[in-house]
Parts: sequence; C-alpha cells; structure tokens
Amino acid sequence: MDEKRRLVWFIFFRVVVVTVLLVTAIILNLEAEGGIHPSQVTVLRLIFATYFFSLGSYLFIRFTTSYTLFLTYLQIIWDIIFVTLLLLVTGGIASPYSFLYFLSIINASILLARREAYYTASLCGILYGAILDFQYFGKLAALGLSPVPARQYGSKFVFSTIFLNFGAFYLTAFLTGYLSERARKSESALEKKAIDLDELERLNRSIVSNLGSGLLTVTNEGRIRVFNRYAQQLTGISHEDAYDRLLSEIIPAMEKYADRILSPQAGEVEYLSSHAGKIVIGFKSVPFNDVEGNRIGAIVNLLDLTLIKQMEIELKKADRLAAIGELSARIAHEIRNPLAAISGSVQLIVQGDSVSNDDKRLLTIAVRETDRLNALISDFLAYARPAVPHKVAVDLNGFVADIQTFLATDHRFGQIALLNECPPGMTVYVDRDQFRQVLLNLLVNAAEEMPSGGTVRLSASLDRLGKDGSEQAFTRIVVEDSGSGMDPAIMARIFEPFFTTKEGGTGLGLATVYRIVESHGGTMHVESTPGAGTRFAISLPGEA
Ligand code: ADP
Ligand code: MG
Repeated sequence: MDEKRRLVWFIFFRVVVVTVLLVTAIILNLEAEGGIHPSQVTVLRLIFATYFFSLGSYLFIRFTTSYTLFLTYLQIIWDIIFVTLLLLVTGGIASPYSFLYFLSIINASILLARREAYYTASLCGILYGAILDFQYFGKLAALGLSPVPARQYGSKFVFSTIFLNFGAFYLTAFLTGYLSERARKSESALEKKAIDLDELERLNRSIVSNLGSGLLTVTNEGRIRVFNRYAQQLTGISHEDAYDRLLSEIIPAMEKYADRILSPQAGEVEYLSSHAGKIVIGFKSVPFNDVEGNRIGAIVNLLDLTLIKQMEIELKKADRLAAIGELSARIAHEIRNPLAAISGSVQLIVQGDSVSNDDKRLLTIAVRETDRLNALISDFLAYARPAVPHKVAVDLNGFVADIQTFLATDHRFGQIALLNECPPGMTVYVDRDQFRQVLLNLLVNAAEEMPSGGTVRLSASLDRLGKDGSEQAFTRIVVEDSGSGMDPAIMARIFEPFFTTKEGGTGLGLATVYRIVESHGGTMHVESTPGAGTRFAISLPGEA
C-alpha cells in the first residue's frame, strides 16, 4: 500500500518536471524565429510520450494490486531512457538537461534501496560519459550531434565534466539512499510501536474483564467508568447501566465511603443483590494518576465475602458445639461416681431390718431410677466420647458366642432364641470393645421389640464387590429379628441421637452403632417390614 503511494507521488513529481520542460520549450520556441527547430519537435514528442507513460502507469497502479516492483523498475528505466534521448537531441555536451539523471537516482533510492540507487547512478554515469565520449570522437554525427562544440571545449573539459557528473550522481545516490533508508527504518519502528500499544490495550482489557474479582474505576467526581464482568455478576447490574453513575447509586452501602473513596480505603459493606439476596462485599480502593501525576480517579477492587463470612460463623458454631460436647461428657462422667454411691447406700438401707415396707418400696424406686440414670449416662458417654477404633483381627463366631454367654443371664433375653449363624473361622478387623457395643445395642433393641419371645438371628457373609465396582472385600454382618418391625416414618429417624419410641429409652443406642460403624469405615443398611421383623446389615471393610 505504501509502496504504491510512493510510486504515485513519484509519477506526479515527474509529470511536474516534464511540464516545466514543456513550458521552457514553448517559451524558447516562441522567441525563436523561422519556425520550430526539428530537434524541438523530438523533445516535444518525448515529453508527450512521458505524459502518456505516466498516465498509463498511474492507471495501472490504480486498478491492479500486483506488479508494483516491476512497475517501479519500469519507471526508473523510462526516466533513464528519457533523459538519455533528451541529451542526444539537445546537443549532448551542450545540453543543459544532464541534471535530469538525478530524477532516476532519487527515484531508485526512494522506491527501492540504497544498492539500487548506486546501480542507477553507475548506469547514468556510464551513459552520460558514453554520450560525451562518442560525441567528442565524432561517432554521433549520424544522429546530428556534431563533435565541434565538444572539441571547442577541449578534452580536459569534457573529461572533467564526465568526472564531476559521475561524482554528483554517486553523491546523490549516497545522500538520498541514506535519508530514505532512515525514513524507512523510523517508519517501521513506529509501526511496531503502534502494534505493541494495540496489543497491550487488548491484553489489558481482557485481563480486567476476566479478573476473578470485581474491578471498577471511578472518576474524581465518583462516577463509574470501568465495571468489569465480575462486578456485573456480583451486583447484577450491566456495564451500560452502571456507566457514569455514582458508586453509591449502585452499592448504597458505599455512601458512607463516598467522600473518602479517592484515597486508599478498605472495608466491608452489605449489598442486597436481586439474584443472590443479601451478600457481603469487601472492597479496597487506590487512587490512580495520569502521566503528569494528577489524580484522575480511583480503582476499586470488590470481592464477594459472603461465603467466607458464612464459613466463619459456622466454624464458630462448630467450635462451640465441640466445647459443649466435651464439657457435658465430663459432667456425665462426674455424675456417675456419686450416683454409684447413692445407689449402693440406698441398697444397704433397704436390706436393713429397721425399714418399714412402705419405705422399702420408695427406696426401691430410688434404686431403680438411679440405675436408669446410670444407664443413660453410660449410653451418653459411649456416644459422646470420640474414640478412634483400635482395630484387631477378631474371630467372629467366637466373639458372638461370648456375647451369647454374657446375655444368657439377661432377663430381656429370657424368651428369646439367639442364633449364632456366623460361619466358623471368619475374621473381622474391629475394635473389640466398640464392636461389642454395636452388637449388644442391636441385640438389646431386637429383644426389646419382642417382649413375648421370638428369634434373633446373627449371620455373616463375605462380599467381594465394593459399592462403586472397585474390588474390595467386605464382611456383611446381619442382625435379624422376628419382632414387630417399624413403619418408614420411624425408620427414617432411628439413627438420630435421642430419638426413641420407648418409655425410658435414651435414643442413643443406634446413634452410637452408626458412629462406630462409620469410624470403622463401614456402612449400615436397615430393612423392616411392620409386623414381620427388622434386619440390620453392617458392611465392614476387610483387612485395612
Ligand atoms: P432406644 O433403644 O433407647 O429407643 P435406639 O437408638 O437403640 O434407642 O433405637 C431407636 C429407636 O429405633 C427405638 O426407639 C425403636 O423405635 C427403633 N428400633 C430400634 N431397633 C429396632 C428393632 N429391632 N425393631 C423395631 N424398631 C427398632
Ligand atoms: Mg436401644
């Protein structure tokens, strides 16, 4: 594009020069007497040919996009031919037009490069020297160039003219080549700079809009300019709507910072967003200056702190709950000792002779209730005390047999057939005490559901497939009773702590079971048919 423009300028320049020549020729001919000289006719023809050539070249450039380099060479060659012919018809050494060779040299250095300018200067020098030489030696007499003027000047003059012209041609090539090269260099440097600025601008814009926090700028008057994507999402207000409005119109709680926002500030404000309800926004502002150091506004950084604030509150709550849990476990433990003392003393009094039967009845109630209180505390401690299981290999069948023996004297199991169907030799990896608690809780529950007798079946099997298809060994332990079962509404809540349907129940039995199974990395599954019985299945991971 630029090359073409240069070429057009050059053609225009040549047309101006040729027009000057034309005007000169006309003036010369007006003064001349006795009609137009034949050599002047040739000059006029040359001039008009150059006009046509220039017009043709111009049209060619206008309407085609290629051949620019070829056309450039053609211009230079045309100029050289034009000047050479002009010299030949206007008297060779006597012609005033040798300076026109400069046209070609300047042309070459501006349109091409310095090297081409030197080539052109050499060509012009050789042609000019040849004309003068040949004229001097009479070789051009056939073209109408008489050697007489050259001989009149003398050989020294002819050669010094050639030499001077040669020098001038090279000097021109050197100077114009140098200048145009410098111009070209600074032009391309400028172009590069412009590209870099463009790229920076684009980069800047995409950084601002893709920032993971809200960014906006306000003018000295507090009016919003930049309002990035995050800020738009946070507030639910588009950039167009926010533009040129006051920050406090967008975020009303910023009102109290309005007169300070242009100096470094940080704080938290509440915001009622149309889509997310009440949110907490943290902000930071810093002033920014123009190139001269004048403050032209402030950059404000916004961040949604809602989630962090929520987490802070929840963490505090969990902390408090943990502290309460620990405290109550300690108190429960402390109640146990005096309770045992009370129960023991009352039992001793009951056994004495000096107590009336009525008092004995009352004291028996006292003993029963202290025992109940003690059981509650035991259950609570089992549930509340966090215990990391100390896993060991346990022979399941033998383990269940021990529990059977233990429960044989328990009155709740008087009418119950407790069946140990665990295959002999099967091993589970469990904490002995905790696992004993699990089985006891399940068995006691089952027995309590069958006051008038029934069957409790305890069985186990190996399960090789994990839930998500991963090959892992599981031991499945099932406690099944023939009790009254439960309806789905109750079943949904049985693992909740303190949920019980029994008078005098603590509701901590299954909650404890669940916690222990969970801490062993196992899972629990319940099935129940009202009137037909309940089935608890525990899956425990194998050796691990
Ligand atoms: P608790 O035994 O003190 O009531 P649990 O946590 O052991 O507390 O049991 C919670 C509730 O689950 C029981 O009150 C009962 O309603 C129900 N439940 C537990 N085991 C069985 C079972 N084998 N058959 C029917 N219902 C059961
Ligand atoms: Mg229970």
